Amino acid sequence: MKLLLLLLLLPVQARAADRDVSVNVYSLHKFSAITVEPAGGGSAAAGHALAGAGRFSAKGSSVSFDGRHKAGPAKTLRASGGIWLSGKGLPRRLYHGELVFTAQKGRLRIANLLSLEPYIAGVVSGEAADFSHAEAYKAQAVAARTYALKHYRAHSGEGFNLCDSTHCQLYTGADNIRAKARAAAEATAGEILLYRGAPAETYYHSACGGRTEDMTYVWPYEAKPYLVSVKDGPTGRPYCSIAPGFRWKTKIYYTGLTRLARQAGWLVSDEEARGLKITAWGTSGRAAELEITTQRRKVAVPATEFYHGIGRRAGWNAIRSSWFRILNGRDYVFLDGVGSGHGVGLCQWGAEGMARRGFKYREILKHYYPGTEINHD
Ligand SMILES: [Zn+2]
Ligand SMILES: [Zn+2]
Repeated sequence: MKLLLLLLLLPVQARAADRDVSVNVYSLHKFSAITVEPAGGGSAAAGHALAGAGRFSAKGSSVSFDGRHKAGPAKTLRASGGIWLSGKGLPRRLYHGELVFTAQKGRLRIANLLSLEPYIAGVVSGEAADFSHAEAYKAQAVAARTYALKHYRAHSGEGFNLCDSTHCQLYTGADNIRAKARAAAEATAGEILLYRGAPAETYYHSACGGRTEDMTYVWPYEAKPYLVSVKDGPTGRPYCSIAPGFRWKTKIYYTGLTRLARQAGWLVSDEEARGLKITAWGTSGRAAELEITTQRRKVAVPATEFYHGIGRRAGWNAIRSSWFRILNGRDYVFLDGVGSGHGVGLCQWGAEGMARRGFKYREILKHYYPGTEINHD
């Protein structure tokens, strides 16, 4: 029986763990040239061994290397082995696997082709940077792997699977990969979270504040039975209370709110914000809808839109989550809040808090995604 199970599981495990992923790097940057340097031996660029620095550049839709190697009909050039990338306005980063360079309207585009597990180790290094417990790293690894496979076709038609920004998952290359992140990816290799046999939508966030939120109060997407509000530990002592900045306070002057609300399109140009209140709440106690009072009318703004709209313009530390109460002053409002992030799915600091209290990664994942199971895809 045991042998049969092994035979059934092994090829499946190999499928997810051996999968390659193509990640668009520097996806938020616009550039037409980049410098490559070898990292260790065995590096190659445009079909030749790479001994020193070289330069890929784009012109129109053709890409060249050191001005000499013009691209063929496919208009693609490659580099492989350990490669350092750097350029004007670009952070210096190390990539393993293969780099594929293409050009589009004079802009260089680079995809990093690598195995799934080193990619997961990279994502987990960024996401779990402040964690200390192996079980928290493992929970994050399974959530990140499931997310990557679920969104594998997020950029289909663009020539790669995933981008390296938070649109997909933050990935900054092979430098600074933490030993604990690599170990977590290896220990859970190929494992993903399933709901009724299909990969789950594993949203995660920094700290829920004491209770995660029903997805439907945050996004207007179809409800998922496993993205529901769960209590994050004992009352008054939530698992994520160890998060830095767990409680936060922000003072917003009406002049500033007026400016941001006009930029966001909530108010028209001659309207002034004169009041702000919460008019609807989610299951957790987060704001679901806010109302801005002007000299003429009341304007309803979904809390998620408010949180993103303010964050994009005033910085993500201004309002760290949509879980706050509002205290009104004469010419300002005071937001007194808890947690950070959208509050849906895995609470990252809660995972660390649970790990510190002795929970294993499977228990952590089942807590935040109730009804799901861990398996290989
Ligand atoms: Zn993306
Ligand atoms: Zn939490």
